[in-house]
Amino acid sequence: MQAASAKKAASAKKAASAKKAASAKKAASMKKAASEKKTASAKKAASAKKAAPAKKAPAAKKVTVAPKKATARLKGTAPARTVVHPPSGESRTALVRRARRINRELAEVYPYAHPELDFANPFQLVVATVLSAQTTDLRVNQTTPALFAKYPTPEDLAAANPEEVEEILRPCGFFRAKTKSVIGLSKALAENFGGEVPGRLEDLVKLPGVGRKTAFVVLGNAFGRPGITVDTHFQRLVRRWQWTAETDPDKIEAAVGALFPKSDWTDLSHHVIWHGRRICHARKPACGACPIAPLCPAYGEGETDPEKAKKLLKYEKGGFPGQRLNPPQAYLDAGGKPAPPLGAG
Ligand code: SF4
Repeated sequence: MQAASAKKAASAKKAASAKKAASAKKAASMKKAASEKKTASAKKAASAKKAAPAKKAPAAKKVTVAPKKATARLKGTAPARTVVHPPSGESRTALVRRARRINRELAEVYPYAHPELDFANPFQLVVATVLSAQTTDLRVNQTTPALFAKYPTPEDLAAANPEEVEEILRPCGFFRAKTKSVIGLSKALAENFGGEVPGRLEDLVKLPGVGRKTAFVVLGNAFGRPGITVDTHFQRLVRRWQWTAETDPDKIEAAVGALFPKSDWTDLSHHVIWHGRRICHARKPACGACPIAPLCPAYGEGETDPEKAKKLLKYEKGGFPGQRLNPPQAYLDAGGKPAPPLGAG
C-alpha cells in the first residue's frame, strides 16, 4: 500500500513538472514572438520615417545686431553678432530691467551729459529754454550772450525796447514771437516773483511761454529737482525702445517716470536727448555705431553698416564741437570741444 502511494506521488510530481516546463516553454515562445514583432514594427517605423520626405522646419526669426558693447562699435569694426531682440510679450519686470540697462549703458557713453543750453543762473536758463523752441540749442547759445550782456536781470528785460530785443533774437527764428515771450516772462518774474525764478512746478507753468517741458528743464538743471524732459528726441527714442506706446508728452512722462527712480529722472533725460542728437537721429539713426543696439527693438531702422553709420555721428561722437559755447569742465576734460560763437562756424 505504501509503495503504491509513493509511486502515485512520483507520477503526479512528474506530470506537474512536465506541465510546468511546457507552460514555461510556451511563455518563452510567446515572449520571443512578441519581441520579434516589436523589433519588426520598430524597424518598419524607422524605415517609414526614413522614407518619408523631410518636412522643412520653420526658420527661427533672427535679427542681426551690433555687438554687446556699444563702445566697441564706436571705436571701430567689431563684427555684428546675431541675437534675438527683446519685446513682444516682454514682462513689466523685463521692461524695467531693459530700460534701466539702456540708461546705464548711455551713462557710460555720455558720462559728461549736461543741459546743452548755456546758462549762469535760473533766469538765463528759463529764457534760453523758451528761445530754444523751433531751433537748435547751438543757435540759442550763440544768441544769448548778447541778450544777457545787455539785459542781465528780469527787470532789465521787462523794461527793454522790443525792437532792440528782436534784433538780438533774429538768429533764433520766430524772433518777434520770442521777443514777446521773453519780455512777458520777465515782466511776470519782476512783478509776481520779486525778480526771482520760482522753484516750484505749479508757479513755473503759470509764467507766459513756460509749459511743463520748460519747467522740468529749469527744475532739474537750475534747482536740482528731478524732472523728465519730454522733447522731440525723448519722444522718438522711448517709442523706438518700446518703453511706452503713448504719444502725448504728459503721458510719456508718466509712463517713463514709472520705470525709473525719481532720482534718475534728470540724468536719464540728458542721456536720452544726447543719444537722440548724436546717434539715434530722426531720419537716419546710426544703428551700426549704436552702443545699445542689442537692447533696442528698433535696431535696423537706420544704417547698420558700421563704417557708414560712423559717418552719421554728430557732435563729439562724430569728432565735431558740441552745442555749448561754455560747456562744463567734465565735457572739456573728456575731449569735448566748445561750440563756436555766432558767425564763426
Ligand atoms: S534705432 Fe538704431 S540708433 Fe536708435 S537706439 Fe536703436 S539701434 Fe540705436
